Amino acid sequence: MGLPKIILKPGKDMPVLRFHPWIFSGAIDAVSENIKDGDIAEVFSSRGKYLATGHFQDSSIAVKIITFKQQEIDRNFWYSRIAAAFELRKQLGLVGNPGTNCYRLVHNEGDSLPGLIIDIYDKTAVIQVHSAGMYLQRDTLADILLQLYDNKLGGVFNKSAESLLKNTGVQTDNGWLRGSGSNCIALENGCRFAIDIEGGQKTGFFLDQRENRAKAGTYGKGRKVLNMFSYTGGFSVYTLKAGAEFVHSVDSSAPACKLAEENVVLNGINSNRHKAIAADARQYLENIETGAYDMIILDPPAYAKNTASRHNAIKGYTALNVAAMRKIASNGILFTFSCSQVVSREQFNAAVAASAIESGRRVQVLEQLGQSGDHPINIFQPESEYLKGLVLRVE
Ligand code: SAH
Repeated sequence: MGLPKIILKPGKDMPVLRFHPWIFSGAIDAVSENIKDGDIAEVFSSRGKYLATGHFQDSSIAVKIITFKQQEIDRNFWYSRIAAAFELRKQLGLVGNPGTNCYRLVHNEGDSLPGLIIDIYDKTAVIQVHSAGMYLQRDTLADILLQLYDNKLGGVFNKSAESLLKNTGVQTDNGWLRGSGSNCIALENGCRFAIDIEGGQKTGFFLDQRENRAKAGTYGKGRKVLNMFSYTGGFSVYTLKAGAEFVHSVDSSAPACKLAEENVVLNGINSNRHKAIAADARQYLENIETGAYDMIILDPPAYAKNTASRHNAIKGYTALNVAAMRKIASNGILFTFSCSQVVSREQFNAAVAASAIESGRRVQVLEQLGQSGDHPINIFQPESEYLKGLVLRVE
């Protein structure tokens, strides 16, 4: 029988030969008759040469490639891939670290596991799949995690309902695959955060900002900080601990604001120095007085989900940064981010430059920031560098 086959159109094998992990539907000439969403299939060139093996899905991204070598995709295969990802996190000093017990164990194409995200929060693993193929592996993956962590994990939670529906149309519920335990305290660079595994956004916390939050701490001392798009107060806790005069956390989500307040207290910080405000970012920025803050952090959600919305997203980033640059105190520090995969670093930098011109302020770039090492970038897929940031000084 063998695996279902996918044959590419003539000349469409170049991206695969350059190890790009996706095959778009337009590149496909023919597929095996009975192929279903989530099947593991082998991809061949128009001349019949084996190219790759991946998960098939009847959508614009038709194949997410899991290997470029013809081999059996069994439990051992998944185990070795996840063990390799674990090895990298050990190398990064994230495993058994007394100051940090939360990290991304598996990051999609960056770990050669397209469609799969696994985040670790202390003794809980959260799996988020983005393809039908990875969804079918969820039980195998949960068992592998228990084995890899020597049965020390208390629970494995599947949080794929939203990501799966969005990417595949498959309807599922979130739920515990192994064990249980909804809330946990994560430790990140010595800061404590209550994580709402079941109810929080994404897998519960935005781990990609770990190093940038620490960096913000180094600028925070004595400052009047506005943490915009604060979620559960990640940047707020770091800047408060570093000695900020006060921090205002602003987020449109009231539950996130409540957790931000709890997280400040959890870190032994006097809550007089912090206020969480549930509000819309642009409205809030419009209404504050110029000079009220001398450090502003802008970490908005992805403004562009696909290339069709890129232009509007760039306009959105420009407007947001203009608003912050107009209001920040003289010689203020502005941390500004984009996590849109389809907006490149060059495009983001250009948007921020346009903001500087429009605001009429003189702006210097102090540092360029990105995603932390447990969110590795697949060098053959430039779009996997999704998080871009700048530290600016606004004169
Ligand atoms: N900086 C955070 C992560 C931010 S994620 C951290 O370090 O953990 C983006 C946040 O923006 C989410 O919490 C979301 O609720 C919030 N958000 C989305 N749209 C918003 C808006 N228009 N105004 C304010 N906050 C918004």
